[in-house]
Amino acid sequence: MRALSDIMEEFGRLSGLQLNREKSRVYFSSRCTQQEERAFALGVDRGELPVKYLGVPLTVNYAREQDCHSLVDFAQRRVEGWQAAGLSFGGRIELVRSVIAGITMFWFQSIQVPTATIRKVEAICADFIWRGGMHAISWDQLCRPREEGGVGLRPLRSKAACVKMAWRFIKGGSLWAEWMANRYLRRTNFWACRIDNNFSVTFKAILRCRPVLQTAICRQMKDGTSTDLWLDPWLGSRSLLDLLGGQLDREAGRGLTCSRIIRDGVWRPESYTYTAQLAEEIRLITIDASQAEDTWCWAGPGTGGGSGLFYFRSCYDLVRTHHDLAEVDFIWGKGVARKMQLCAYRLLRGRLMTRDRLLRFGMQIPDAKCVLCNEDDESMGHLFFVCPMTRHIWTEQCAQLREGVGVDRDIRSILSWIRDHRGRDPGWARRARVRLAASVWHIWKERNRRIFEGLTTSLLEFYII
Ligand SMILES: [Zn+2]
Repeated sequence: MRALSDIMEEFGRLSGLQLNREKSRVYFSSRCTQQEERAFALGVDRGELPVKYLGVPLTVNYAREQDCHSLVDFAQRRVEGWQAAGLSFGGRIELVRSVIAGITMFWFQSIQVPTATIRKVEAICADFIWRGGMHAISWDQLCRPREEGGVGLRPLRSKAACVKMAWRFIKGGSLWAEWMANRYLRRTNFWACRIDNNFSVTFKAILRCRPVLQTAICRQMKDGTSTDLWLDPWLGSRSLLDLLGGQLDREAGRGLTCSRIIRDGVWRPESYTYTAQLAEEIRLITIDASQAEDTWCWAGPGTGGGSGLFYFRSCYDLVRTHHDLAEVDFIWGKGVARKMQLCAYRLLRGRLMTRDRLLRFGMQIPDAKCVLCNEDDESMGHLFFVCPMTRHIWTEQCAQLREGVGVDRDIRSILSWIRDHRGRDPGWARRARVRLAASVWHIWKERNRRIFEGLTTSLLEFYII
């Protein structure tokens, strides 16, 4: 304790930053004895874990749900501030995207957030998107990339934040990474280390990311002095020991580095490998003498293996569940406003709340008739493609595009019809897509205006797109 006190004094003397004993707390591990006495010797009060640091609870164990209240509060406050702003569906999606980005960048890269907390935050976001009403599209569906049928939100429950932490660890160069390596890897190698119960939750999570990490990184060699010959995965994404099927005595090879088989900037694999093929593979690995030392490069999906820099998007793509490509991707092109894209997206998925659906869900509504024609019952099929009022719009749109299309089709067949023409004339297909999304949006807006505001617009407005 005296040594610690002396260090703080010395630090204060050198930096001019004095320790404020009134505002400081000392934290002990549960195994430490005489905690009160030790705290007294240091002259500061004893604190209890978990403690908040920059709003995030610091703990050596798993963070509990009650430690993460502030995360739920944060999400709640963010969306509440916007409740009254009358945002469109697209605006609400964008806001949720920013809330999620804020949380994942900060919280999820610092601690293991409990599942119950994640569920609460997701529920807050989903309720906000659907204005507290029925969730027409499930959260998991919304969280898929657009080309796979979602709206491109990122789920909170993703391994990507943890893989990023593992990447920061192997990349090194920070006090945190050095401290972790010193604490847990003094006598072993990161890639060969067994998960021990005494490790912290964070370090265990980092170690569990190794298989994923291994597929996305590659080793850039300089002279091999900082690369473990047997254990580091420097051969593609595998280690030498892995490739040789564990034929070697680990003890004998401990501590050997790749510098053993690099001489004067040239590979000399003969002495340590068993097969000629493997030796040949090693010779093909580039040695880059211009670097400072051997380094890990990020070569995950979408990076093209170019810069070696880490991209979170690439990391997320690596760990997420992939779904079949959906036909909706054609809605999400450039040149169409986001609110229009999202409206067309909901129509395509059959999720707009037309009166027939409201009735089916047992809601009380005064009238089931279509507000545009007052003839038939309102359904998505009727409103957008059968109603005499909207048929005009499609006829006009087709005339503008100089192509014939049956106007009583559904949006799916119109989209594939446009898609079939894409190869022939991309410019035409883009115009057609803009017209389709804009028409759908205007029809839906007109319907809502008539129902909720009692207003009517001349449908001629649609033609001027
Ligand atoms: Zn109608």
